[in-house]
Amino acid sequence: MAGIAAVIVAAGRGLRAGADMPKQFRPILGAPMIRQSLVMFLEHPNVGFVQPVIGRDDVDLFQSSTAGLQPLPPVFGGATRQASVRAGLEALAARAPEIVLIHDAARPFASAGLASRAIDAARQSGAAIPALPVTDTVKSVDAGNRVTGTLDRASLRLVQTPQAFAFALLLAAHRKAAAAGRDDFTDDAALAEWAGATVTVFPGEAGNIKITTPDDFTRVQAASFAALGDVRTGSGIDVHAFAPGDHVTLGGVRIPHTHALTGHSDADVALHALTDALLGALAEGDIGVHFPPSDPQWRGAPSDRFLRFAVERVAARGGRIAHLDVNIVCEAPRIGPHRDRMRETIARLAGVALDRVAIKATTSEKLGFTGRGEGIAAYATATIRLPWS
Ligand code: MG
Repeated sequence: MAGIAAVIVAAGRGLRAGADMPKQFRPILGAPMIRQSLVMFLEHPNVGFVQPVIGRDDVDLFQSSTAGLQPLPPVFGGATRQASVRAGLEALAARAPEIVLIHDAARPFASAGLASRAIDAARQSGAAIPALPVTDTVKSVDAGNRVTGTLDRASLRLVQTPQAFAFALLLAAHRKAAAAGRDDFTDDAALAEWAGATVTVFPGEAGNIKITTPDDFTRVQAASFAALGDVRTGSGIDVHAFAPGDHVTLGGVRIPHTHALTGHSDADVALHALTDALLGALAEGDIGVHFPPSDPQWRGAPSDRFLRFAVERVAARGGRIAHLDVNIVCEAPRIGPHRDRMRETIARLAGVALDRVAIKATTSEKLGFTGRGEGIAAYATATIRLPWS
């Protein structure tokens, strides 16, 4: 027995969330919920196997939601959550992991630290679940809405996932429950308790919420919008001179022209200015610091990678790109016919919607170096949102 496995339960229909697809495939904060749930476990240094459990009708949704990720091939769930977990456990049986974490895909914000605590707790007790104290007063009521009592909240806990178990213990408990005809356990701890295990609790996370209703989606978006309130704006300027050639690259788009642009990489002034605007918004130096023009590896290189680098820096800071705006100054070539392709290219590189990218162009009325047709200039502005720090 070796290793840690995670079963991600994503076979529910999620009808309460009121959408045209199961809620676990709906985007939340920019990515499908199931993707966010999977990524945490796939990137966790101690988790060796990640086993998704999905509905039979959701294969296409699963593939499109998890493109580029490499969990184990999904297995199909059953009619109940309990049956779905069991399907995931049976799929892992041949690997015989030491510990298994069972996690609901509807909790996309569980942290890697929570998973680490789950693993440690399961190693100690064999069965451990994350729990939060109850801070509201809890009443029991009868069918007539009359209060019948006030519960002692000190002895109550709100339970989350991932729930962690010795794999052999949980698999045996699931097989025993199935053999006994029980299919009504709503979480694995209840099933393990029924099978005779002692289950312990460890601290859960307030942010590890379960997304259930349409209101939950709205609330999360609103909270994240408020949290990303540290709005920054950066500017970038770039100039490259014309040289003999037959095309220029602007905004990642190859445009036939009577001249080429010369200089750093492919001399794409638009992408260079944008890269500097993003780095400026982050206050993380400029393009020359990160990609020195003296380094021969950047000669003639496509400028995609510079912009991608800056985009990744924004993501690494937990930020989002709100808007990108580029002004290109030249007498020729004409920019208008290429504007849409530039916007599409930049939106794709930056991972933002098309309506967050603007490309504008102007001549300089034959004045200055751009007016004399000696080169092209670009001015860019990037607006990003960072979490408060
Ligand atoms: Mg440049």
